Amino acid sequence: MDWADTSEQAQFRQEVRSFIEQRLPAHYEVRRQRDTVGLEDNHEQHYVHGTPEEKDAARQWADALMERGWVAPHWPKEYGGAGLSTMEQFIYNQEMAVAQAPQPGGSGVSLLGPTMLVHGTPEQKAKYLGPTLRGEMRWAQGFSEPGAGSDLGSLQCRAVRDGDEWVINGQKLWTSTAHKSNWIFGLFRTDPDAPKHRGISFLIMDQSTPGIQVRPIISMGWEHATNETFYEDVRIPAENIVGEQNRGWYVGMTLLDFERSNIAGAVTMRRRIQAMLDYAKTPRGAEQSAPRQRLVRSNVADRWIESEVMFNFSFRIVSMQAAGTIPNYEASTSKAFGSELGQRVANTGMKMFGMYSNIWDRQDAHAPVDASFTQEYVHSVVHSIFGGSNEIQRNIIATRGLGLPRG
Ligand SMILES: Cc1cc2nc3c(=O)[nH]c(=O)nc-3n(C[C@H](O)[C@H](O)[C@H](O)COP(=O)(O)OP(=O)(O)OC[C@H]3O[C@@H](n4cnc5c(N)ncnc54)[C@H](O)[C@@H]3O)c2cc1C
Repeated sequence: MDWADTSEQAQFRQEVRSFIEQRLPAHYEVRRQRDTVGLEDNHEQHYVHGTPEEKDAARQWADALMERGWVAPHWPKEYGGAGLSTMEQFIYNQEMAVAQAPQPGGSGVSLLGPTMLVHGTPEQKAKYLGPTLRGEMRWAQGFSEPGAGSDLGSLQCRAVRDGDEWVINGQKLWTSTAHKSNWIFGLFRTDPDAPKHRGISFLIMDQSTPGIQVRPIISMGWEHATNETFYEDVRIPAENIVGEQNRGWYVGMTLLDFERSNIAGAVTMRRRIQAMLDYAKTPRGAEQSAPRQRLVRSNVADRWIESEVMFNFSFRIVSMQAAGTIPNYEASTSKAFGSELGQRVANTGMKMFGMYSNIWDRQDAHAPVDASFTQEYVHSVVHSIFGGSNEIQRNIIATRGLGLPRG
């Protein structure tokens, strides 16, 4: 197999690199030099709630990307995207990850936009896509509920039609970023008597509508990333439905035609392992890790090999997509492997630095690699749960990939 770029791909890669060199604000450049591992930059957070310096950088960068259609590289040009091919998106994502350049847009650009492009009316596209690209509408995804995660089809949050409105009552769980977003898209039960996947509709709503309440869920790493959302007699216009009534399950499951290789994840893994090695070679790092270096040596080598495997999973998925095939169990393999590799890399860092790994404060002078392995050790626990838990991914690999019977 030949992994080398074609001459057009090499030219595009150079174009992305030059763009980053010329336009990435100095703020991110400084961060990159200071913060070799970089817990992912949250562009949306900076854009709205950042310090003046963070806001400036986030806006400048979003404006620069907008000029090229690169806030949504996978959207068609007529809607403000760049209409990049799968391979171009892959190269774009890889180069942005290498440069640790944040990608604006969140789930509005990655999920809502592509769904609306397929199922939205011309009026909806005109009303929502532009503001989503410009960061004026920031979206949270309200799918999961207390009794509906892996078994999403069991969702109960009700929407009842009343004249020109939907009236919504119930609860959603794990509504990530709802404390920073101003719009929600989600799945709601509109026909309780229909078979469970057939009585669901895809609705969108302004979060300032009376009756919506957002309550924080604080993780064990003291992180506020996700929320519970409550809906009490929430009235939204009837036109806020995307796709047909009671066909929302199929709208929500729209296969999205964008690059799904998670090449950014592979690049990040490699950077983390390299940062661990670089630190262990500094005088302080050598002193901190000396008693365990022999013990963890083979662990580090294993992680490096596994990161190579992850690159190859990414290449496999993107080459399938480039050939017009939709990755199926292959995407599950990559998700399960990548999320668990992230956990193993953090674990290896913890082992290498022993008691120093107990330091949580990133500013502490004795914290190995800015305490990023310690923080990632805690934060990465959820990676094997969200986006479809790894047990569910393994079920998919077993049935669709290996052809095993359902248990
Ligand atoms: C940090 C975080 C952010 C999230 N963000 C969002 C968001 O923005 N929007 C949103 O809608 N959702 C979000 N989710 C929800 C996420 O999609 C669900 O947590 C996930 O699908 C698992 O569902 P659950 O939590 O209900 O667990 P359950 O489905 O109750 O599963 C519990 C356990 O049982 C296992 N299990 C369940 N069914 C099977 C089966 N058939 N075979 C084998 N094992 C099984 C699971 O793997 C898991 O280990 C988020 C979750 C987390 C943790």
